[in-house]
Amino acid sequence: MNECLFCRIAAREVPADVVHESDHIVGFRDINPQAPTHILLITKEHVSSARDVDEDLGKVLGELFRTAAHLARAEGIDEGGWRLVTNVGPDAGQSVHHLHFHLLGGRQMDWPPG
Ligand code: AMP
Repeated sequence: MNECLFCRIAAREVPADVVHESDHIVGFRDINPQAPTHILLITKEHVSSARDVDEDLGKVLGELFRTAAHLARAEGIDEGGWRLVTNVGPDAGQSVHHLHFHLLGGRQMDWPPG
Protein backbone atom coordinates (compact mmCIF):
# COMPACT_ATOMS: atom_id res chain seq x y z
CA MET A 1 0.00 0.00 0.00
CA ASN A 2 1.22 3.50 -0.83
CA GLU A 3 2.05 5.30 2.42
CA CYS A 4 2.03 8.80 0.92
CA LEU A 5 -1.00 10.69 2.26
CA PHE A 6 -1.46 12.84 -0.84
CA CYS A 7 -1.07 9.84 -3.18
CA ARG A 8 -3.83 8.23 -1.15
CA ILE A 9 -6.03 11.32 -1.42
CA ALA A 10 -5.40 11.40 -5.20
CA ALA A 11 -6.41 7.73 -5.39
CA ARG A 12 -9.53 8.52 -3.31
CA GLU A 13 -8.39 6.07 -0.62
CA VAL A 14 -8.41 8.86 1.96
CA PRO A 15 -11.38 11.25 1.99
CA ALA A 16 -10.84 14.90 1.17
CA ASP A 17 -12.95 17.86 0.13
CA VAL A 18 -11.99 17.67 -3.53
CA VAL A 19 -12.78 20.79 -5.55
CA HIS A 20 -10.99 19.92 -8.79
CA GLU A 21 -9.72 16.81 -10.53
CA SER A 22 -8.16 16.16 -13.93
CA ASP A 23 -6.02 13.36 -15.32
CA HIS A 24 -2.93 14.97 -13.81
CA ILE A 25 -3.84 17.10 -10.80
CA VAL A 26 -6.18 17.20 -7.82
CA GLY A 27 -7.32 20.20 -5.77
CA PHE A 28 -8.79 19.79 -2.30
CA ARG A 29 -9.41 21.98 0.73
CA ASP A 30 -6.70 22.07 3.38
CA ILE A 31 -7.81 20.31 6.57
CA ASN A 32 -6.34 23.17 8.65
CA PRO A 33 -7.16 26.29 6.63
CA GLN A 34 -4.98 29.36 7.10
CA ALA A 35 -7.24 31.68 5.10
CA PRO A 36 -10.92 31.76 4.02
CA THR A 37 -9.81 29.96 0.85
CA HIS A 38 -7.06 27.42 1.37
CA ILE A 39 -6.88 24.79 -1.36
CA LEU A 40 -4.03 22.37 -1.97
CA LEU A 41 -3.14 21.60 -5.58
CA ILE A 42 -1.17 18.40 -6.07
CA THR A 43 0.22 16.44 -8.97
CA LYS A 44 -1.22 12.95 -9.21
CA GLU A 45 2.26 11.73 -9.96
CA HIS A 46 4.32 11.39 -6.80
CA VAL A 47 7.04 14.04 -6.73
CA SER A 48 8.55 14.77 -3.30
CA SER A 49 8.85 18.55 -3.63
CA ALA A 50 9.69 21.38 -6.04
CA ARG A 51 13.30 20.29 -5.58
CA ASP A 52 12.53 17.16 -7.63
CA VAL A 53 10.63 18.69 -10.53
CA ASP A 54 12.03 17.70 -13.92
CA GLU A 55 11.34 18.90 -17.44
CA ASP A 56 8.67 16.24 -18.03
CA LEU A 57 6.45 17.88 -15.44
CA GLY A 58 6.37 21.23 -17.23
CA LYS A 59 3.02 20.73 -18.94
CA VAL A 60 1.37 19.45 -15.76
CA LEU A 61 2.66 22.44 -13.77
CA GLY A 62 1.31 24.76 -16.45
CA GLU A 63 -2.08 23.12 -16.00
CA LEU A 64 -1.73 23.44 -12.21
CA PHE A 65 -1.08 27.20 -12.44
CA ARG A 66 -4.03 27.70 -14.81
CA THR A 67 -6.20 25.69 -12.40
CA ALA A 68 -5.10 27.89 -9.50
CA ALA A 69 -6.21 30.97 -11.45
CA HIS A 70 -9.51 29.30 -12.36
CA LEU A 71 -10.19 28.28 -8.75
CA ALA A 72 -9.30 31.76 -7.50
CA ARG A 73 -11.97 33.19 -9.79
CA ALA A 74 -14.46 30.48 -8.75
CA GLU A 75 -13.76 31.19 -5.05
CA GLY A 76 -14.29 34.93 -5.54
CA ILE A 77 -10.78 35.84 -4.37
CA ASP A 78 -9.32 36.94 -7.70
CA GLU A 79 -10.06 40.62 -7.30
CA GLY A 80 -8.57 40.84 -3.82
CA GLY A 81 -5.62 38.71 -4.79
CA TRP A 82 -4.21 35.38 -3.74
CA ARG A 83 -1.03 33.53 -2.96
CA LEU A 84 0.30 30.30 -4.42
CA VAL A 85 3.12 28.79 -2.37
CA THR A 86 5.02 25.56 -2.09
CA ASN A 87 7.22 24.66 0.85
CA VAL A 88 10.45 22.73 0.37
CA GLY A 89 12.23 21.10 3.28
CA PRO A 90 12.23 21.63 7.04
CA ASP A 91 13.11 25.34 7.20
CA ALA A 92 10.12 26.12 4.96
CA GLY A 93 7.89 23.88 7.07
CA GLN A 94 7.13 21.18 4.50
CA SER A 95 5.20 18.50 6.38
CA VAL A 96 3.86 16.36 3.52
CA HIS A 97 6.50 15.10 1.11
CA HIS A 98 4.41 15.15 -2.03
CA LEU A 99 4.57 18.24 -4.26
CA HIS A 100 1.71 20.59 -3.43
CA PHE A 101 0.87 24.25 -3.83
CA HIS A 102 -1.18 26.16 -1.28
CA LEU A 103 -3.75 28.45 -2.90
CA LEU A 104 -4.57 31.03 -0.22
CA GLY A 105 -6.87 34.01 -0.35
CA GLY A 106 -9.79 35.86 1.13
CA ARG A 107 -7.84 37.93 3.66
CA GLN A 108 -4.99 40.43 3.74
CA MET A 109 -1.69 38.56 3.91
CA ASP A 110 1.63 39.67 5.32
CA TRP A 111 5.00 39.70 3.62
CA PRO A 112 7.46 38.27 4.38
CA PRO A 113 5.60 35.17 5.63
CA GLY A 114 6.49 33.95 9.11
P1 AMP B 1 3.09 21.66 4.04
O1 AMP B 1 3.25 21.96 5.50
O2 AMP B 1 3.49 22.80 3.13
O3 AMP B 1 3.76 20.36 3.67
O4 AMP B 1 1.54 21.50 3.80
C1 AMP B 1 0.83 20.35 4.10
C2 AMP B 1 -0.59 20.76 4.28
O5 AMP B 1 -1.40 19.59 4.23
C3 AMP B 1 -0.91 21.44 5.62
O6 AMP B 1 -1.41 22.74 5.39
C4 AMP B 1 -1.94 20.52 6.27
O7 AMP B 1 -2.92 21.21 6.98
C5 AMP B 1 -2.50 19.80 5.06
N1 AMP B 1 -3.07 18.47 5.32
C6 AMP B 1 -2.53 17.45 6.05
N2 AMP B 1 -3.33 16.37 6.02
C7 AMP B 1 -4.41 16.71 5.25
C8 AMP B 1 -5.59 16.03 4.85
N3 AMP B 1 -5.84 14.75 5.22
N4 AMP B 1 -6.48 16.69 4.07
C9 AMP B 1 -6.25 17.96 3.70
N5 AMP B 1 -5.15 18.67 4.03
C10 AMP B 1 -4.24 18.05 4.81
